[in-house]
Amino acid sequence: MKNKSKKEYLKEWRKKNPNKVRENFKKWHTDNLDKYNKYQRTYRNHIKKAVFDHYGWRCNCCGETTPQFLTLDHINNDGYKEKKVNKSSSADAVYRNVIKLNFPDTYQVLCWNCNCGKRMNNGICPHESAIKELNQRLEKLEKK
Ligand SMILES: [Zn+2]
Ligand SMILES: [Zn+2]
Repeated sequence: MKNKSKKEYLKEWRKKNPNKVRENFKKWHTDNLDKYNKYQRTYRNHIKKAVFDHYGWRCNCCGETTPQFLTLDHINNDGYKEKKVNKSSSADAVYRNVIKLNFPDTYQVLCWNCNCGKRMNNGICPHESAIKELNQRLEKLEKK
């Protein structure tokens, strides 16, 4: 049998060249990891595009339009509840969930700055509270 001898030959070769075997496996692994990562990236871009095409490519607070800065924000600040349900906090999971829920209006687009600012400032972006403060000051001035 030709096949069998080939198999036997491979077995022998593997025994004699364990380093080569490891190398080949490593190469196969990185090659495929590359493909996998590329696929993941296109998939991620695809769902991100679907979500932002719906909610708009613009920060709802400061008007930032650079796509890399934009994130999806849960308006009611209860994103953490969702995270517990989904057991995942990745942006992908949020995007997938939003698509699954058919784009609920409890989400808005914010840039990273406004998103973080909102989280650190009790749910109001410092931009917003700065404007409020300014308005309050103006009101006081007008009253004088
Ligand atoms: Zn912003
Ligand atoms: Zn802001």
